[in-house]
Amino acid sequence: MTRKGNGIAVDMHVHTVFSDGVHTVREILRYAKIKGLNGIAVTDHNTVVGALKALNEARNLGLLVIPGVEVNCREGHILLYGVREELPQRLRRKPNVYEVIDYGLENSVLVSIAHPYGKALFLRYPIVEMTEILHRIQGIEVLNGRTPMSRNKLALELAEKLGKVYTAGSDAHVVDELGRVRVFVDDPVESYEDFLEYVKRRKIKVIGSTTILGIMVGIAKRKIMILKKRFIK
Ligand SMILES: [Zn+2]
Repeated sequence: MTRKGNGIAVDMHVHTVFSDGVHTVREILRYAKIKGLNGIAVTDHNTVVGALKALNEARNLGLLVIPGVEVNCREGHILLYGVREELPQRLRRKPNVYEVIDYGLENSVLVSIAHPYGKALFLRYPIVEMTEILHRIQGIEVLNGRTPMSRNKLALELAEKLGKVYTAGSDAHVVDELGRVRVFVDDPVESYEDFLEYVKRRKIKVIGSTTILGIMVGIAKRKIMILKKRFIK
């Protein structure tokens, strides 16, 4: 079941061919429906083009699309939600994290740190040590489908400690991964702006799992559940 009453289920972290995803926007939208999702955030790396295309193509599909982007900064990855135009060129090639956060705040988009403790075991991001950044951002991705649960748990603890907004998503690069992580809102939601308001007020539930294949090679053809955890807020 994806819907509870009139509520909706949204995967807030999805990639397409416009960055390093395998599938086209059209395929992603079609599979999102097949997987029983009511909405997705398209968050390609460093470009909003795929997200805007998805927003346009989803109009007649009864699917909510949140236009977003995942900006690869030197210090870590930043998710921006509610972006309606392409990023300035200076933010598209390994920008400084401060610039990205300033851009997000100036343009009234929701700013969240993606997988703050890194995804791969050998990769660490300095961003979790940067107090000023942690102070200024609104959200933290508390569950990422390609991140070991031990690191997701640290992210959730950080978000709780700092009183931040929760974001969560599968980080799908192939359609098999779509919907592995879901954000639930218990009420009907008419627009992505409404959905983001629920997220900002923390009136959501986050449910999902990660897979060992997704973590190790980035492509999960078979689902191997290593842990399942339910976060309720
Ligand atoms: Zn991602």
